[in-house]
Amino acid sequence: FAPWSDPDAKPYIQFDNVTKRFGDFTAVNKLSLAVFEREFFALLGASGCGKSTLLRMLAGFEEPSEGRILLDGQDLAGIPPYRRPVNMMFQSYALFPHMTVEANIAFGLKQEGMARAEIEKRVTEMLRLVKLEQFARRKPHQLSGGQRQRVALARSVAKRPKVLLLDEPLGALDKKLREETQFELMDLQQDLGLTFVVVTHDQEEAMTMADRIAILDKGEVMQVATPAEVYEAPSSRFVAGFVGNVNMFDGKLARNGKENARIAANGGAEIIVDSAGDALPGAEVSFAIRPEKIRVSSTRPTDAVNAIEGEIYDVAYLGDMTVYHVKLDDGQVIKASTLNAARIIDDPLTWNDRAWISFRPDAGVVLTR
Ligand code: ATP
Repeated sequence: FAPWSDPDAKPYIQFDNVTKRFGDFTAVNKLSLAVFEREFFALLGASGCGKSTLLRMLAGFEEPSEGRILLDGQDLAGIPPYRRPVNMMFQSYALFPHMTVEANIAFGLKQEGMARAEIEKRVTEMLRLVKLEQFARRKPHQLSGGQRQRVALARSVAKRPKVLLLDEPLGALDKKLREETQFELMDLQQDLGLTFVVVTHDQEEAMTMADRIAILDKGEVMQVATPAEVYEAPSSRFVAGFVGNVNMFDGKLARNGKENARIAANGGAEIIVDSAGDALPGAEVSFAIRPEKIRVSSTRPTDAVNAIEGEIYDVAYLGDMTVYHVKLDDGQVIKASTLNAARIIDDPLTWNDRAWISFRPDAGVVLTR
């Protein structure tokens, strides 16, 4: 499933040069974005970046100031929320407290004028879908947070919308439950064959669930890509820093050849990389590399193309991995992490030891500044 890599695939949802202003404040700025049918798409960004505004425009609660939003080729301008094949699930769930779980799920169907027998069938089906059959007669206050979240989900898909919009759907759950529910949401989306657009500020959540992620900043799209691309090949310093941990070696591109390129880092180190794209020699660049791509050792590895000396500044044992802070001789502190594949009760590398960091020429990306 990767329609975005097929140049002939038709987008299902399209934001076409959309701007949204509130007074003289621009919340969304000339934004274009395409989502494909059956895609699990995440809008990721810090608070205030405009992600909820995008969802609200898609749902029809707000109209764009400029630009168009298309769904399956149809311009949504002027179409009221209830006539769009889109449903929205809010963070607060907004369940009716005095109604049972089944009544909550049935509510929208009743309003639509669906026949009674049909409603019963649909509600049963939805209860089974979210594994809440035994809880049909309970009221929301008799449920756990996770169960309430599932009721809300059942209610928002009961009408069989084509697109489900989820605004911070797991925000109210604790960490463990959130992680479990992420997988449930993915299964549900697969089972129903719906298109999901989820808003989140939690990068791990976006990485776990989404087919693709749009990273937003100040009402603009910074990058749209699969989780792996966003992490391994961020297009900018902003994206690299926003998603996951990263080390940045700032410097100048010294040479850009066919086989490899060389960066003269500001601290004096020379870094050989496989590719520096089309950056020109002399350009101000940064080499961005993730902690787990860096090896730490007590002697200079003989096979390493890139090796820089420093000393162990901090060691944090986290069980599954160990994180080292290595202070290079030029003063820069580098974060490196090692997966603890074998048991290590006593790490031979400890505070103040001399140490080398090393990494492969394809271990990071060169970003222009
Ligand atoms: P959060 O994660 O905090 O919800 P967000 O990325 O979803 O943030 P939006 O809710 O889309 O952000 O808001 C984007 C910006 O637009 C914010 O600065 C917000 O204050 C502003 N904004 C949103 N709605 C309105 C409104 N109705 N009137 C004025 N400003 C608004």
